[in-house]
Amino acid sequence: MSRERYIDRVLKAQRELLFGLIRIHVLVHAAHEPIFGLAMMEELGHHGYRIGPGTLYPLLHGLERNGLLKSSLKTVEGRRRRLYKITSAGRKALEKATVKVDELHHELHEEHPRKISPGSDGPAAS
Ligand SMILES: [Zn+2]
Repeated sequence: MSRERYIDRVLKAQRELLFGLIRIHVLVHAAHEPIFGLAMMEELGHHGYRIGPGTLYPLLHGLERNGLLKSSLKTVEGRRRRLYKITSAGRKALEKATVKVDELHHELHEEHPRKISPGSDGPAAS
């Protein structure tokens, strides 16, 4: 594999790993106020996620298709914008995700996460 292809693959894998977090992040904001794509993109940028419209809009559509968001067209400051609101299914999903994220956060910061393999000691070889 060429070095460029290897780097592409690694970057893609990193992005995919963060996708669920980005979805949760969108739900967090939608739980507080109706959101639209551009503002959400900027907000994610503040958190260090570089995500373009080609990624964010399909993500928003996917959340709507799955019933977690509901969109409507509104005129805001003279411009037609698609606003997304969280649904009750979205709030439930966010509640569940919050429990999981809290637990993951806890384990990420534990010095010694619970061992799950018998006979292993220390971190796995990389
Ligand atoms: Zn945020």
